[in-house]
Amino acid sequence: MASSLIPQELNVYQNAEARFEAAAKKLGLEDGLYRYLKYPSKEITLYIPIGMDDGKLEVFTGYRVLHSAVRGPAKGGIRYSPDVTLDEMRALASWMTWKCAVVNIPFGGAKGGIICDPGKLTPGELERLTRRYTAELFQWLGPERDIPAPDVGTGEQTMAWVMDTYAMHVGQATTAVVTGKPTELGGSAGRREATGRGVMISCDKAIARLGIPRSGCRVAIQGFGNVGSLAAQLMHEAGYKIVGLADIHGGLYNENGFDIHAVIDWTYGLRKPLIEFPGGGERMSSQEILFQPCEIAIPAAIENQITERNAHEFQARILCEGANGPTTWQADTIIEQKGVFTVPDILANAGGVTVSYFEWVQDRQGFFWRESEVNDRLQDVMVNAFDEVVRYAELHHVNNRIAAYMLAIDRVARALRLRGIYA
Ligand code: NAD
Repeated sequence: MASSLIPQELNVYQNAEARFEAAAKKLGLEDGLYRYLKYPSKEITLYIPIGMDDGKLEVFTGYRVLHSAVRGPAKGGIRYSPDVTLDEMRALASWMTWKCAVVNIPFGGAKGGIICDPGKLTPGELERLTRRYTAELFQWLGPERDIPAPDVGTGEQTMAWVMDTYAMHVGQATTAVVTGKPTELGGSAGRREATGRGVMISCDKAIARLGIPRSGCRVAIQGFGNVGSLAAQLMHEAGYKIVGLADIHGGLYNENGFDIHAVIDWTYGLRKPLIEFPGGGERMSSQEILFQPCEIAIPAAIENQITERNAHEFQARILCEGANGPTTWQADTIIEQKGVFTVPDILANAGGVTVSYFEWVQDRQGFFWRESEVNDRLQDVMVNAFDEVVRYAELHHVNNRIAAYMLAIDRVARALRLRGIYA
């Protein structure tokens, strides 16, 4: 199933498979269930025709992969990027299944994407692309079937277009068909910050275990989008010292720490490049930021940033994965041998899907919660999941990543045994 064009280590699908296999083996998962859970249950490829602003017709390739709906409707983001591949969608869809199971919310996993460069498309082109993609998928989607959310290159506006297109097809407003919507359209208070907040809660738990004080604890973050910038802001406000920041154009390291509010004003207010931030710091590549002196490194951009090639340069004591799949399977061993405490992606960045679940619940209830209520419930879910993963790791003598997979696979397998196979 994996593409032969991509080097093996960098194929995210093979990375996802390797972790699944190791955890399933340790768990003693029966052969039939192993094969059932290894593959997605559905996948679709779409060729999406769009009239461009210059009058030309362009055809974009898009995907939606539904990995599992065993524990509930499938949940997963939509990614717009030139690098989207079917293998990537398969990996991300299966990670959603495991992530929802780790935090014990009643969803399965899915993922979708379109091969495009959203930065080069006009708002009108993006809207038409999103609406046509949604219309083509209309029968697959739904609050009880498959519920998209934003991912790299998509956001609240994209979700508003998905929701409106779906609503036009079913003939009624259906806010619960997507999450990560604007609050004016049934979005949840606290959703925008949720993944970054979940990352911070994971870091709080990890430093408590390692006896590192929060105040002055040095943090390097790669990625300054939804996850990275909000994790940086919340952690800065909580007393962490953010010494490294990076986006696609490069990184900045400042051992004195950044004033994150000033960086956000610079990048989001003034729309200036992060690496030109005038507050000082040494310039480097985006990837190098993860390998600087610090207590916590947070990859919060894309996959395959910590690999067999560079893992030995890792200096942090804690690796908290805001992004999906930032560490390759081969790098895991090196990181583990260094004694790094890893909070794996399917736990560390699960705050987003957890508040997406709260959004879906609120939409279906038609009753909305205060932001403090959302944050308190998120804290409960993340703390419980963290404690369960660490307990599982200790009990089964495995690292946190394999423990998280084992916990998740066990939950999905138990649900599957109870449901039985319909045929
Ligand atoms: P985003 O598009 O808001 O931000 C992405 C950031 O990464 C930007 O700062 C961008 O400049 C940087 N980036 C992009 N390509 C890069 C590259 N090649 N090298 C270095 N930096 C690069 O995306 P996001 O929503 O913050 O998602 C980031 C990661 O977190 C993804 O792996 C995503 O799947 C994962 N994630 C996001 C959420 C969420 O709620 N948004 C939830 C769970 C996981």
